Amino acid sequence: MVLKRIVLTFPHKLVDEPIVYKLVKDHDLVFNILQAKITPKEEGLMVLELKGTKENYAKGIKYLASIGVKLKPLDQDVRRDEDRCTHCGACISICPTESLYVDKKTMKVIFDPEKCIACELCVKACPPRAMIVKF
Ligand code: SF4
Ligand code: SF4
Repeated sequence: MVLKRIVLTFPHKLVDEPIVYKLVKDHDLVFNILQAKITPKEEGLMVLELKGTKENYAKGIKYLASIGVKLKPLDQDVRRDEDRCTHCGACISICPTESLYVDKKTMKVIFDPEKCIACELCVKACPPRAMIVKF
């Protein structure tokens, strides 16, 4: 039996596709949606926990890749270099899990690693490259 957490990124043309339903029905996988950010006309992002036999898991992943879903295992960590962060706020609206937010008292940008799903969207968005991927 396989139990894995993966990050799915899919183009807006797939936003209305019953992707999770097909994983269950056609590939006999059990799922748990950990996070989802799906906006019409934009790229969708979903973090799924998938459980099933090794064979079914492989088939399910193959199906996702075949329809154009980008996949990434959730086995890495994103950290912030506090010395580099200028609290510019460029990362806040990009973060799908609200791991980056403004503390209204100090007006500083806070990073909550507990909420972070390591999607890396903030890494490219951060001008001084303060958000770092740790493997
Ligand atoms: S974009 Fe980078 S520098 Fe700006 S607040 Fe976010 S982590 Fe800090
Ligand atoms: S990697 Fe960055 S954008 Fe993604 S969830 Fe973590 S803090 Fe938010």
